[in-house]
Amino acid sequence: MFDFDVAIVGASLSGSAAAIELAAVGRVALFDKSTFPRRKACGEGLSAIGYRTLQELGIAIPAQRLFGYRIAQGDRNVTVSSQDGAFGVERRVLDAMVLDRASRAEGITTCLGEKVRGIELRDDRVIVSTGASRVVARHVIIADGAQSLTAKRLDVPTRQARRPRFAASTECETTSTFEHVQILVRPDFEVYVTPTRPGSVNISFVGDRASLGRLVSPDCVRAELNLVGELVGADFVLMEDPLGVGCLGPLSRTPVFGRALLAGDACETLDPICGMGMTHALLSGRSAGASLANVFRGESSWCLAAEQYRQAERSLARRLRGYSRGIHACVAGLPRISLLRFADRSGIASRLQTCSVRGGGVYGSLLNTVGAL
Ligand SMILES: Cc1cc2nc3c(=O)[nH]c(=O)nc-3n(C[C@H](O)[C@H](O)[C@H](O)COP(=O)(O)OP(=O)(O)OC[C@H]3O[C@@H](n4cnc5c(N)ncnc54)[C@H](O)[C@@H]3O)c2cc1C
Repeated sequence: MFDFDVAIVGASLSGSAAAIELAAVGRVALFDKSTFPRRKACGEGLSAIGYRTLQELGIAIPAQRLFGYRIAQGDRNVTVSSQDGAFGVERRVLDAMVLDRASRAEGITTCLGEKVRGIELRDDRVIVSTGASRVVARHVIIADGAQSLTAKRLDVPTRQARRPRFAASTECETTSTFEHVQILVRPDFEVYVTPTRPGSVNISFVGDRASLGRLVSPDCVRAELNLVGELVGADFVLMEDPLGVGCLGPLSRTPVFGRALLAGDACETLDPICGMGMTHALLSGRSAGASLANVFRGESSWCLAAEQYRQAERSLARRLRGYSRGIHACVAGLPRISLLRFADRSGIASRLQTCSVRGGGVYGSLLNTVGAL
């Protein structure tokens, strides 16, 4: 009666991580509209937690070690150093490696280049259809990203907490080396410069639709890169057209809907400023896959597994949002900071410390903001 135990929509980080957890326990169909490797708009800064998660999954990603952020606004800047550090990674490589790990696992059928066009949730089954196939599964994991068409089709309730923002990202060559992610807070948008490998950086722009509108042509982007280069004291050579994306978070949807579990950005998007989106995708994907694996092993009922996933996902998203607020506080408080040290209570950034501030100002207001997390 069932073609598969689980259909997964989206084979990026969250979908592939979920599939890996289900390997050898259930029969899984893993769909993605793209074929891999492919480009994905992203700042490409991976947290230490995300990096460790990849190691646990047996994925050794080539990565550029980073030691925190250097945030600059006008002539003021602050360096936020993290003992754990972070890593610059190339999404094109990372996503293909995680998918490769999933597709080599027992029981996983990958269906790449197949866009899910229809989904039907019934009491006892899920029917997923693409142009090429129609499969009946016991459950579905929705992992098709922030703009989730699948969630929209199912009318999953969505909450957009803040005014949406827009982004564009691209790869550049450089002869400069950086140990920190450089964040430039410009009057109309933010610019993130993240080293991903020797001689290469990711540059992402985040702002409102109007402010990013001028980055449509490569000439405008080159002019902008020259300016960014002057501000951070580096040279950047554009290697590819920027990849644009609309409506960045924060957005959240219920993690459980009928027989569906939502994972990664389909469930919760985090502000890209915090660099925790990939980490959230990997962890929530694993958690969704592990919850269903418990059901197929006979160790849990579906109702119990669904409730456990709901609670685990909510608690994960809350902790990661706390981190995001800490970094936002640094950006917002920048004009008034001279020196601060803090540890956020979420446990995620417990060893995050701030030091090395130029530009002067009043000490303390940021400490209060972060202390209240
Ligand atoms: C500009 C920008 C900068 C960012 N910077 C960072 C950063 O520096 N650090 C960080 O950790 N995070 C960052 N993020 C967030 C991060 O990219 C996401 O959180 C992460 O990619 C979410 O992974 P996911 O697997 O949930 O979804 P995605 O990576 O979005 O993958 C969704 C997948 O679903 C597939 N799909 C979509 N629709 C269908 C369909 N109908 N049928 C089949 N397949 C479908 C897509 O092809 C895609 O492969 C950034 C995001 C943006 C936009």
